[in-house]
Amino acid sequence: MRIRLVNVEGDAEWFTVAYIPVVKTLKEPRGDERARIRRSNVLQRVMYLIFRTTAAASHKGFELPVGEDQTVMAFPRILLYICDQPEERAILCMKSGGTTYPCSSCKVAARDMVSAAELTAEERDVLQTLEKHLEATELANFGEDRPRRVALESQESINSAIPSLASFAGLSTPPFLLYKMVGFDVLHVSLDSLTSLLDTKDFLLSLTESLYCACT
Ligand SMILES: [Zn+2]
Repeated sequence: MRIRLVNVEGDAEWFTVAYIPVVKTLKEPRGDERARIRRSNVLQRVMYLIFRTTAAASHKGFELPVGEDQTVMAFPRILLYICDQPEERAILCMKSGGTTYPCSSCKVAARDMVSAAELTAEERDVLQTLEKHLEATELANFGEDRPRRVALESQESINSAIPSLASFAGLSTPPFLLYKMVGFDVLHVSLDSLTSLLDTKDFLLSLTESLYCACT
């Protein structure tokens, strides 16, 4: 797992902060399902190990040096998670697709995803959804009531694990930004879709020249 720090001195670089073990699918009853649950839980434990200090600071604050002899109390917040690929929803313990409510932010039905219904759909309730994560995880841990767990996963588009990011202040506490911080890298998405549509180097070159001209 790599993170990129952009508000530090010097060049912004990618840092490797953890290695996530590969969880293989074993030959056992419901092997695929069990492996999926294990992968979700391993990912969330790694996330917790990486961010636990920052998550604690988001509640208690930490002393940030300012100037020569002064410090201020700072409270870190997560305001944006760029999630360009469906499988990146795993960070939030959400399924990548194939469920009733596939949107990360709202409860629009899959069949209405490309209609105006998206604009008026009910927003995901953070606490309610986290309670369902807890219930599904407990059922998975004790191997109980599989139909109920599968129904929870399917209805809410979630995995049977608890998203460690929910431990951050501001995400699962007011103003409850856990599902509102999900976003796309607009330039990345635009370029990807345009290049796949046009599939031409000439187009990229002319676009780069245009951007260069616009910036100078
Ligand atoms: Zn939505």
